[in-house]
Amino acid sequence: MGTIEKIAGPLVVAKQMLGSNMYDVVRVGDAKLIGEVIQLRKDKAIIQVYEDTTGLRPGETVTTTGLPLSVELAPGILGKIYDGVQRPLDSIEKKSGSFIGKGIEVSPLDKKKKWKFTSTAKKGVHISEGSIIGHVQETELIKHYIMVPKGVEGTLERIKEGSFTIEEEIAVVRGKSKSHSLNMIQRRAVRIPQGFKSKFRSAEPLVTGQRVVDTFFPVAKGGTAAVPGPFGSGKTVIQHQLAKYSDADIVVYVGCGERGNEMTEVLVEFPHLLDPKTNKPLIERTVLIANTSNMPVAAREASIYTGITLAEYFRDMGYNIALMADSTSRWAEAMREMSARLEEMPGEEAYPAYLPKRLAEFYERAGKVESRNGKVGSITVIGAVSPAGGDTSEPVSQGTLRVTKVFWALDASLASSRHFPSINWLNSYSLYLGSFHEWYVKNVGEMFPENRQNAMKLLQHEAELKDIVQLVGADALPDTERVVLEVGRMIREDFLRQSAFDQIDAYTSLEKQKLMLDNILYFGKRADEAAKRGVPADKITSMKVRGEISRMKEWIEKDAEASAKKVRAGIDAEFDALVREEAVAAK
Ligand code: ADP
Repeated sequence: MGTIEKIAGPLVVAKQMLGSNMYDVVRVGDAKLIGEVIQLRKDKAIIQVYEDTTGLRPGETVTTTGLPLSVELAPGILGKIYDGVQRPLDSIEKKSGSFIGKGIEVSPLDKKKKWKFTSTAKKGVHISEGSIIGHVQETELIKHYIMVPKGVEGTLERIKEGSFTIEEEIAVVRGKSKSHSLNMIQRRAVRIPQGFKSKFRSAEPLVTGQRVVDTFFPVAKGGTAAVPGPFGSGKTVIQHQLAKYSDADIVVYVGCGERGNEMTEVLVEFPHLLDPKTNKPLIERTVLIANTSNMPVAAREASIYTGITLAEYFRDMGYNIALMADSTSRWAEAMREMSARLEEMPGEEAYPAYLPKRLAEFYERAGKVESRNGKVGSITVIGAVSPAGGDTSEPVSQGTLRVTKVFWALDASLASSRHFPSINWLNSYSLYLGSFHEWYVKNVGEMFPENRQNAMKLLQHEAELKDIVQLVGADALPDTERVVLEVGRMIREDFLRQSAFDQIDAYTSLEKQKLMLDNILYFGKRADEAAKRGVPADKITSMKVRGEISRMKEWIEKDAEASAKKVRAGIDAEFDALVREEAVAAK
């Protein structure tokens, strides 16, 4: 037990702290605020406090728990909304009456609820950290595997079956020197990545149903993506779309102190979203971690680690997790504030010199792995950055772009022209495309990667032509190039543009994406041939079939193939007629 010597905002210096360790969680002052030791100097401990330190005084006591900042893991996590140090927001509210009370000790999980435990490990087997001994059906969608916690190894001496609270004994393990009684709870320190057997290079995309993502800038299951988010660019909507439609099993959403009302939006809206695949509330496979800007900065700093640790836990059960962090800029700012108070040597733009390292360490916890128990799961990390003024040359964006492999450039000017999702096709990139080649060929179609590339070339060509048009007008272009402008427009408006609010358009399967793109490219091919044979561009750009192409979005998934054939026949018929007409006129 020590005493407070100095308080500076969220930072507290305590003396007589010999015996405490780095990253120990401490209780600070009479109010027992939660803090973490972040520096030790002789008998002094520098503590970052996760709660408002107003009213704290020198001389008050500090006690160490002797444990690192950890999360409690057991059935009951899904559907919860936590703050940055895993306190459930609803119980904080209930206990303190107001939004967030001080020094409140609340259990992250329901200790009274009984869960039906089904054992799967047999008595007498050897088990160790990570081994699965049974499961609980946590929600209709997710089976929660009960894994052996760290530090337990030995022979399974006893295992029970039936309904238990998470604290009741379900198994006994006889170790070398002692017996362990196991319940369903385990704790994991949040700042230490969970170990695993092996990590793979992921060659499979996270399928999101969003055409611009899946076809043009896909992210791997277990991959990393960065999204800059200028205000109003559709960042929230795209995150909702990914949460709803991506083929991840579980979504962990970490909201780090973005403008208060935005977080509220997420908190209010998320619990009402329905999973389109099952029509169950989406929250049944979601965990939310919320830090509004009125919560202390230190908690914001911790929330990212809390989030990724929860994700690792479910990954170890063999699930695919999508973790969304919004926004990592606010996280970095929290780091900057703490670093300034510690009077550390500032790096670029006053961020601590270790910022790039911290960013890299965070994104490194993404990946597809075989966990200790042999299950294969993945964590895909999608990190939003919100640089001031949209200038991505600043340290957080740069540090992020160096370590992430996909960049979805949300573009304010596209958003203002109502082109959604406002992912700019010219600035965005995905470094996974090469490694997905085989997967696409096998699962979508042999020509898909090539067609994707051709479409991208057309868009680039269109952009170049548009620059010329601005200078000299469209009439100065030859017909073959005016046709390129038309096909570019089709790719943009009839393919890339996708409404999140239209029931059919909100999700497009890869099969339908392929068929849509095929038709546009086929139109392009025929248009180019026709223009070369002398059909005037005006006739091509006013063809009737263009209307049918723009309605491809409305195709019902199961009829997509038949619909695609019909449109293709329409393209052929109209072009054949145009070319014939032109031949007659030429004679
Ligand atoms: P941000 O979070 O970046 O401030 P939002 O995600 O709230 O922006 O989007 C702003 C508005 O843009 C939304 O209210 C919606 O009207 C529109 N919008 C964004 N994405 C789409 C989309 N995919 N389809 C249709 N409208 C969209």
